[in-house]
Amino acid sequence: MTRDKKISELGEFGLISRIAAGVFAPDNVITGIGDDAAVTVTGQGMQLLTSTDMLLEDVHFRRRWHDPYRLGRKSLAVNISDIAAMGAIPRWALLSLAMPSDLPLNFLDDFTRGFLSMAGEHGVTLIGGDTCSSRSGLVISVTVMGEQLPALILRRSGARPGDDVWVTGTLGDAAMGLKLLEDDGLTQAGEGMDFLVSRQLDPTPRSAAGLALAGSGLVTAMIDISDGILADFGHIAEMSGVGATLRLNDLPVSVPFRTAVRAFPQFPHHLVLSGGEDYELCFTAAPIHREKITELLKKCSLAGMPVGIVTSSPEVQVLGADGASFLPKKQGFNHFAP
Ligand code: ADP
Ligand code: MG
Repeated sequence: MTRDKKISELGEFGLISRIAAGVFAPDNVITGIGDDAAVTVTGQGMQLLTSTDMLLEDVHFRRRWHDPYRLGRKSLAVNISDIAAMGAIPRWALLSLAMPSDLPLNFLDDFTRGFLSMAGEHGVTLIGGDTCSSRSGLVISVTVMGEQLPALILRRSGARPGDDVWVTGTLGDAAMGLKLLEDDGLTQAGEGMDFLVSRQLDPTPRSAAGLALAGSGLVTAMIDISDGILADFGHIAEMSGVGATLRLNDLPVSVPFRTAVRAFPQFPHHLVLSGGEDYELCFTAAPIHREKITELLKKCSLAGMPVGIVTSSPEVQVLGADGASFLPKKQGFNHFAP
């Protein structure tokens, strides 16, 4: 029965063929999986954008609560999010896997199905990767490439004093979902908790919105929120040589997030500011463009709102609910925090 098979029974090339079997290459892929290197073509006048991210078992995910299908989706989603944050069109992906040899074959099959479903939703083709065995858990490394006209690429630099700071979607959901998963059982605790968990396990990269914002020419700087708005806007601030005042009351939170905060007072409110993995977009634009940007995001079926103002002084401060501003200390996740 294939359901009980281990990946070690298939061998490296059997595994690669199994992954490759689900891939259909469009015209921009001349040579995909199966040669020494992939050959692709970019559109006329386009520049290539490349981004890579690793997901390590027990650092970024736990097999206990992350089903392989959604793990496959997320592995690609976090990479597509980086391409979206540059305002580029995601095109190609490389998938490198180091797997324990006793990994069930159906885990790999479900992972691959998930990965390719995310790829299909965003027009990405899997063009290669690497496959090896691991003695210390599952390691997933994904590289995504995209393209865009040079004039449309959005960087972290470019924010100007007086610009609005915008965020899409809602903040803190994924971090709250992680808290629920860590505190076994709480996922069943209330209405909408599964929404928070799915924001953690199966995030949606905002590629259509990123692309539309880039095409509009209205945006001065952009980043995706993977480590919380404080840390990630902090990168825009640093690269643009600016600061900001963020209005705590205006930061968008979901109804399930509010429910969770009420139901579990032990969970910190500051997840809105510094919770990771929402993969929403944070960008800056002059206030005169508010209406156009709201319309543009609506066309992408996404909410977005101005949550602060870019300042010329370099601090990122938060205007609290009581009208007093403070300089927050708690920043986003840092792998090598002392
Ligand atoms: P090489 O020995 O030249 O590195 P490999 O045997 O590692 O080649 O890979 C053979 C082909 O399979 C290449 O096209 C490679 O990109 C692709 N490949 C290997 N592993 C994966 C994977 N996990 N997902 C997709 N493609 C893969
Ligand atoms: Mg290889």
